[in-house]
Amino acid sequence: MFSINPYVLLITIVGVGFSFAATADVLDNQQKQELKALTNSTMQSDLSYQLVESLTTEVGHRLMGSEGDKKSITWAVKKMQSLGFDKVWTEEVNGTFWQRGDAQVRILTPYPQELVSIALGGSIATAKGGLSAEVAHFETLADLQAAPDNSLAGKIAFISYRMDKYITGRGYGAAVGARVGGAVVAAKKGASALIIRSVGTDNNRIAHTGIMRYQDGVNKIPAVSVSNPDADMLVNQLNRGEPVSVYLNLTSHTDTKVVAKSANVIGEITGSEFPEEIVSIGAHLDSWDVGTGALDDGMGVGMVMAAAFHIAQLPERPKRTIRVILFAAEEVGLLGAKQYMVDHKDEMKNHIIGAEWDFGTGKIYKMTSGVGDHAVAAIKEFATYLAPLGVELSTKNNAKAQSDMSLLSAAGMPSINFAPDGMDYFDYHHTENDTLDKVDTEVLKQTTTIYTLFAYFAANSGINFRN
Ligand code: ZN
Ligand code: ZN
Repeated sequence: MFSINPYVLLITIVGVGFSFAATADVLDNQQKQELKALTNSTMQSDLSYQLVESLTTEVGHRLMGSEGDKKSITWAVKKMQSLGFDKVWTEEVNGTFWQRGDAQVRILTPYPQELVSIALGGSIATAKGGLSAEVAHFETLADLQAAPDNSLAGKIAFISYRMDKYITGRGYGAAVGARVGGAVVAAKKGASALIIRSVGTDNNRIAHTGIMRYQDGVNKIPAVSVSNPDADMLVNQLNRGEPVSVYLNLTSHTDTKVVAKSANVIGEITGSEFPEEIVSIGAHLDSWDVGTGALDDGMGVGMVMAAAFHIAQLPERPKRTIRVILFAAEEVGLLGAKQYMVDHKDEMKNHIIGAEWDFGTGKIYKMTSGVGDHAVAAIKEFATYLAPLGVELSTKNNAKAQSDMSLLSAAGMPSINFAPDGMDYFDYHHTENDTLDKVDTEVLKQTTTIYTLFAYFAANSGINFRN
């Protein structure tokens, strides 16, 4: 026999107690069971797919200020109500309605051919009847920037930079500058118009649109993109060393005197203990006026609405409020997000954490946090719940939320960035090919489950994710 020293036993018990407290999980055992059940039920549900199917079939594309935009607001309000959200409301967002019109680009000499083209969003029209001019070729925006001022008088600038394809989509950042800022740079050099190679990774004879910008005090010139195969052919003609002249006709139009009205659509599952504390999940409701905006961003819309619905099916409301924000007018310059920042200025500190979806066609494979250092342990625990779904935790803790929610991140909202397989995303992005058939139901089950678990975890934990 051996005797137990009661003092040692006490120390041991207290010691165990302390060490348990220091490593205690955020979720208790009952919550862990609930989360597991939620994972299983959400992985079985195709609700998010049904929502994208409904949006793309019954509304279609939804450019800021268009009929589709108005219909999508009504659609989202009704869906949220029928899904049993506790609160649903809209917040007005104003802007202008840009109308695409027709685009024609034709090589006149040396070898006449039509090019498949599309107006860049926000572009002005050409003068009636179009314009014809010699093409000045630049491989990159930087090359165009390096051209002497006024050296392009009477010419059309053409940037032939091709976007690289990566699973992360990081080729977009290197390519998109030519689309957004190319017209200003070209105009400063004296050019009468801008043609760019599409910012896209496909080889389809379909051009990609997307926003472009003018600058006060700089001449506004028309701007179009051509499809990748057409850009190749134009380059081939230029490579023959003879002057290449092109005809361009564009009938795009913005009535700047008319205010276009849209709205952010917001729905909540109200928190049971801390209703003023907000876990936000978001996507943008608008799209370009080509395709049906199934990937950009119908998929995100379906995911975040379904995530809130799945949590609302649990016997009890989560402790914190889950707010689904469907932002208006993201494509034309984050107008909905900017308005949200104004409307919710005083409430910004209550935004506990958030995540947006606005990229990717494939499954989520990685998550990166952007939280206070003291909250990293909680994020590590959350990552263990996602590991069975194939998600690894990044060692970095520097995430900012995507797209609209980047403004909330900039205002101090902690966020999680979920990285999906984005290899194919820019094949379809901002084209007529952004349609429902590109949305994979199995992918959506995984991505929706992850957003559901994120909202559940953040809303049921007492963790302060801020610094
Ligand atoms: Zn988008
Ligand atoms: Zn977009």
